[in-house]
Amino acid sequence: MLADGVAVVGVGGPSPFERKLSPCNDNGDVASLTAFDTLPRLVLPFRPGRMAKLYFNYSTMNAGKSTVLLQASHNYRERGMDTYLMTAALDGRAGVGKIASRIGISAEADTFANEDDVFAMIKSRLDQSKITCVFVDEAQFLTEDQVWQLARAVDDLKVPVLAYGLRVDFQGHLFPGSAALLALADEMREVRTICKCGRKATMVIRQDENGNTITEGAQVQIGGNETYVSLCRKHWREAVGS
Ligand SMILES: [Zn+2]
Repeated sequence: MLADGVAVVGVGGPSPFERKLSPCNDNGDVASLTAFDTLPRLVLPFRPGRMAKLYFNYSTMNAGKSTVLLQASHNYRERGMDTYLMTAALDGRAGVGKIASRIGISAEADTFANEDDVFAMIKSRLDQSKITCVFVDEAQFLTEDQVWQLARAVDDLKVPVLAYGLRVDFQGHLFPGSAALLALADEMREVRTICKCGRKATMVIRQDENGNTITEGAQVQIGGNETYVSLCRKHWREAVGS
């Protein structure tokens, strides 16, 4: 509502300004708002009971996507809704069967390798007990077939699947799982972080132990001494010399 003495200019309904201030829709209907509607997406990424969807939450390195995933899962569990956590088996950072965030929180997760049928994994978990949704970390490492399996789980088992992954590798190429998710996901959201210049970081460089930018090598490198730095596209181009 507007403060005393502030005039609303115009006739025939609320001004755009007033509409923005009010939680009511044009019919003045506030009764349909629930606790879930008033929570930001980060807290509960989807409203339970709605149609199941495949979500792709993408980011560059070090944007905190595992933190966001773990927090979201925790928020459902805190409200008595069980979640099923999955992560890539080849991720050496967290150890087998665990999703870990750089800020120190972690949770147990089932791991998937390239040859695993993730639809069957989700179905088998659902057969044991009810789950509200599935969270998949390191989704960039899914194969295209596995992304189709997730889509089938959404469509046929009617369970929401929230996949979190990196969009591009250090050479600026899409990961296979991310390419398939960009093609098949019902909804996509970006987990944002910033470059050293303050712009949104969308790219990542790989550096050796001396801080030199590496421009060649395998898409996935595990157990080395390299580090990753997230940059905006302009600073990524400067770093890789393109
Ligand atoms: Zn920048």
